[in-house]
Amino acid sequence: MKNFKNLNLDDLKSQIDIVSLIEEYSIDLEASGDNYIALCPFHPDNKTKSFFVCPATNTWYCFGCKRGSSVFDFIMEIEHKSFWEAVQFLAEKIGYVEIFSLDALQKRLGRLQSEEENVGLNKFRKARNYIEGQIYIKVKENFNTAKDTLDPQKYKVYNEKLKDLWRWYDKGQQWFDLYIYRYKTGENIDLAFLIKKLQSFYSKFLEKFECLSFV
Ligand SMILES: [Zn+2]
Repeated sequence: MKNFKNLNLDDLKSQIDIVSLIEEYSIDLEASGDNYIALCPFHPDNKTKSFFVCPATNTWYCFGCKRGSSVFDFIMEIEHKSFWEAVQFLAEKIGYVEIFSLDALQKRLGRLQSEEENVGLNKFRKARNYIEGQIYIKVKENFNTAKDTLDPQKYKVYNEKLKDLWRWYDKGQQWFDLYIYRYKTGENIDLAFLIKKLQSFYSKFLEKFECLSFV
């Protein structure tokens, strides 16, 4: 029995394995390199496997409907729950049996969000999903072309640079995660400013990516 007084969102997130979580919903995951692909449970399409799951970052993303992100977002979508309900659901799943009410959970981990704050968070999520989708599509197209056209030596160099760029991208993503986490736990964060930051992060990524494309 785990006491929810010791619970924090990062620990909770890291204790949930996204692959097993998704498989519990009878979603048929097919291995694709280090990742998994599947038919998306959130938009109608029974041909294209546009739903990607990345165990390394414990995240998911659908190229079709542009939904994605963390284990919390997955539960929010599939169980039609609010953020705090998803947190409670996952905490109970891994044995935090002493969570009895959402109020207690929010008091412990954050604050009650006003309607206005929820709208702000949704705006940020939408902007982020859109940007991530654009990035994934660009990188995927470019990667496929590079694979087909570059000679092995050049491809190797390209691949190394791409890996570096992804590391840079992940760091950026973690920065945004941290701010959203701080926002959700009650800190005063200007979400409109954060969206602007997100857009400039995207431009910077594209700049770096353009350089890499001409190897
Ligand atoms: Zn989808």
